[in-house]
Amino acid sequence: MSSEPLVVVEGLRKVYRSGPKEVVALREVSFEAYPGELVAIRGRSGSGKTTLLNQIGGLDRPDAGRVVVAGQEVTSLPEEALLALRRDVVGFVFQSFGLIPVLSAAENVGVPMRLARTPVEEREKRVRMLLSLVGLEQHLNQRPYELSGGQRQRVAIARSLANRPRLLVADEPTGQLDSQTGRQIMQLIRALVRSEGVTALVATHDQSLISLADRVLEISDGVLREAALQES
Ligand code: ADP
Ligand code: MG
Repeated sequence: MSSEPLVVVEGLRKVYRSGPKEVVALREVSFEAYPGELVAIRGRSGSGKTTLLNQIGGLDRPDAGRVVVAGQEVTSLPEEALLALRRDVVGFVFQSFGLIPVLSAAENVGVPMRLARTPVEEREKRVRMLLSLVGLEQHLNQRPYELSGGQRQRVAIARSLANRPRLLVADEPTGQLDSQTGRQIMQLIRALVRSEGVTALVATHDQSLISLADRVLEISDGVLREAALQES
């Protein structure tokens, strides 16, 4: 393990205000994640997992505290630099896959590379490589509705890796899948973290997936703590 953390979170606080009501979603959350680590963030629905991942990936801004990813202070980046960070440094995987319905699997995976203006030939080569990495080399031209839930999530994972991110942020990636498919997806993420050397932060409330993580962080009512290490 390298001594330099890839992700540093310090004193993160997030308050949602809707009218007179306040919800404190994150309470002074701090932790670090190192290159090549698979960190599970476990907590019940409403505990603050999505809020935490959104602040880390630069999708939202906290009320206090800071986030550093790959040496960049996400929490103080101007909008344009945030766009670049989300395109080049962070790969996102969501519960609902987030694929574009009218595009084929290959085209979906190619989208981030189009945004990064990757030359066509290189793009097509990497799309094929990524889709075979996730076991979908036979399904390049199928659209999302022609794929199973597990296959859709594989496409989304391939897409998340398109621009060689250093950080993978996965928010309940198995939440819409049956338990066996969910386990396969988690095993795929586990294997990709090893083979691609990325760091992954995976939010889940699925107990059966926790054993695949290197570390487990527990979040409850916006308070994060390190959970006891478990042997798989
Ligand atoms: P989780 O992902 O663990 O289910 P969330 O981060 O989505 O939890 O939510 C944490 C808390 O913040 C919950 O109480 C939720 O209702 C609240 N919350 C989340 N997003 C918003 C929002 N946009 N506006 C107001 N409250 C929100
Ligand atoms: Mg959530």
